[in-house]
Amino acid sequence: MPSRTQPPHPYVVQEDRLASLVGSGMLDETQEPALDRWTRLGSSLLSAPICLLSMVDRDRQYFKSQVGLPAEVAQTRETPLSHSFCQHVVAEQGPLVVSDARQDLRVRDNGAVRDLGVIAYAGQPVTTSDGHTLGSFCVIDSKPRSWSAAELALLEDLAVGLTTEIELRVALRRSLAVHDELAANQRQTREILDTAHDAFISMGENGRIVDWNPQAEATFGWSSAEAIGRDLADTISPPVHRAAHRRGMAHYLSTGEGPALMQRLELSALHRDGREFPLELTISAQPAAEGCRFHAFARDVTERRAAERAKDEFTSMVSHELRTPLTSIRGSLGLLESGLLGPLSEKGQRMVEIAVENTDRLVRLINDILDLERVDSGAIDLNPQPCDAAGLIQQAVQGLDQFAAQAQVEIVTEETTAVVLADSDRVIQTLTNLISNAVKFSSAGSTVRLSCAQRDDEVLFKVSDQGRGIPAEKLELIFERFQQVDASDSREKGGTGLGLAICRMIVERHGGRIWVESSPAGSVFSFALPTASNAASSPEGLPGRPSILVCDNDAAVVEVVGKMLEQHGFRAIGAQSGRQALELATIEQPDAILLDLLMPAVSGEKTAAALAKRDETRDIPVVILSVLSASEAGKDAGARFFDWVEKPIDETALFHALERAIRSRPTRSTSSS
Ligand code: ADP
Repeated sequence: MPSRTQPPHPYVVQEDRLASLVGSGMLDETQEPALDRWTRLGSSLLSAPICLLSMVDRDRQYFKSQVGLPAEVAQTRETPLSHSFCQHVVAEQGPLVVSDARQDLRVRDNGAVRDLGVIAYAGQPVTTSDGHTLGSFCVIDSKPRSWSAAELALLEDLAVGLTTEIELRVALRRSLAVHDELAANQRQTREILDTAHDAFISMGENGRIVDWNPQAEATFGWSSAEAIGRDLADTISPPVHRAAHRRGMAHYLSTGEGPALMQRLELSALHRDGREFPLELTISAQPAAEGCRFHAFARDVTERRAAERAKDEFTSMVSHELRTPLTSIRGSLGLLESGLLGPLSEKGQRMVEIAVENTDRLVRLINDILDLERVDSGAIDLNPQPCDAAGLIQQAVQGLDQFAAQAQVEIVTEETTAVVLADSDRVIQTLTNLISNAVKFSSAGSTVRLSCAQRDDEVLFKVSDQGRGIPAEKLELIFERFQQVDASDSREKGGTGLGLAICRMIVERHGGRIWVESSPAGSVFSFALPTASNAASSPEGLPGRPSILVCDNDAAVVEVVGKMLEQHGFRAIGAQSGRQALELATIEQPDAILLDLLMPAVSGEKTAAALAKRDETRDIPVVILSVLSASEAGKDAGARFFDWVEKPIDETALFHALERAIRSRPTRSTSSS
């Protein structure tokens, strides 16, 4: 039996038992009148002067509830384990019954016998349903006593009842903690939504607004109190879009298909004051207790659109207003420089030469800025055609012959038979820029090497030099606007700092990529473009990733054509009936529609007529995909649609028709690009 110096039983100090004890809250020093009832009851029913609920801790026992303890112990509510009979109940996870402790080998050395006068003891374990014995519920007498079976049974019942109460308290405590955490999370989410710079709107299945943050108030002009409960479409959609909004929602609720969900959309929205404005938004749907909830983050992009317009206007102003006077300045300076207007002093001549040089630089800079803007905004249409890479290289090199000779740099070209799908002028522009850089940054006597090879489905151009190289940390950066390895590079070498940015834009618009590898022994600029074998099947040159709505009542056709389109860089949206096509076209605003002619219920012809009637879909070009030729379909059938492609599909004809259809539309922002 443990004496004062003996260590506690291993189970008493087992970590998960102790963790469970701490988690139960039974070591908290708060007085619990409800628990005191159990000890009062135990004492009185068993006619024992002392009754305890003793929680056995690592090195002490703590009396969560007690009756009859001597005053000094009642106050501290604890004793060391050297004075604990209850630790035996915990160690054994079973009852301990002692009639006379002085005669009992198990406890006669226990400090409680000597110091607290404990003579008779009966304790029942307090064991929770997860199997941990946390302590003992016990009765104590200060004189010898033999406990009857009925008394011990009563004590056991009380201990079990008390344990149940303890467990209920623990469960309540835990659920309150979870509740508090949930409430804290909810408060935090609310705070995030309330301080968001985007409008946040939620709507129930019935189309009524259920959430509306302060930014939504500012964006749409309705206060949250006014907006909540209102029909969302009536509140923020211009009348012409309301039916489409409701159809899209009904479609989702009945089929689970929500092609407009989780996409960045741009729609026209309505302010309370009647003003319409462009709204960028993303909608998501989530199951909720009362059905489905639709959430949207939305942003008024009026200012962004205005800034874009201002940028376009500025670009055009630069193009016309700045280029015209510069042309006459350059002309006048040229005349002065040539001496045709009379001789200049030596100093005057030098000044004019500097002015000519700088004017040329300014003209180049303006041209580059305009070029960049035009390629960036899609204002320049790329016209990719199959071209011989050798011819492109030759033209670029020819234009730089003199420049290279002046720099005493030799340009060596390797033979190639590769055929590339590209806009030749733009690829020559790219090559010219890379070669002139290579020459500029090479020393006299060195060589610039050009090669081109076909690899899988791309053609790889390489321009290598033996120049000064580019440090590793600048390899990406130099493709950004106005970025140089050395701040003085542009000035000293006569560049604008825009050349590589333009190259990258051109290459990327072709669906290709450009990069550089470099060492102190020189640099290799590479760019890859698609091969001409992809000629018929690529939307290269079209901005973004155009979306095509494919409508055919045959699911297999929708799937196969969809895959074909996706493979060639389009985004495909499938529909299997005219009605579905009408709904999806309204919501998704595809760049073109590929429509089967012979569909049951609503035919392709009727679908196209319905599309033409709606404001939202009228401008989307329709290409017919049919087993019939246009002439077989009837007089003037072909003229009623943008184009006509026959089944079985000839890929060349299909992509050609789609590309033409997309190009036929004025530039617009697409949700997919
Ligand atoms: P720039 O008109 O200044 O040449 P670019 O965009 O064509 O503008 O090039 C950006 C910078 O990249 C150059 O100023 C130069 O610092 C670095 N660079 C480009 N090509 C080379 C090269 N072949 N060797 C070393 N540095 C180069």
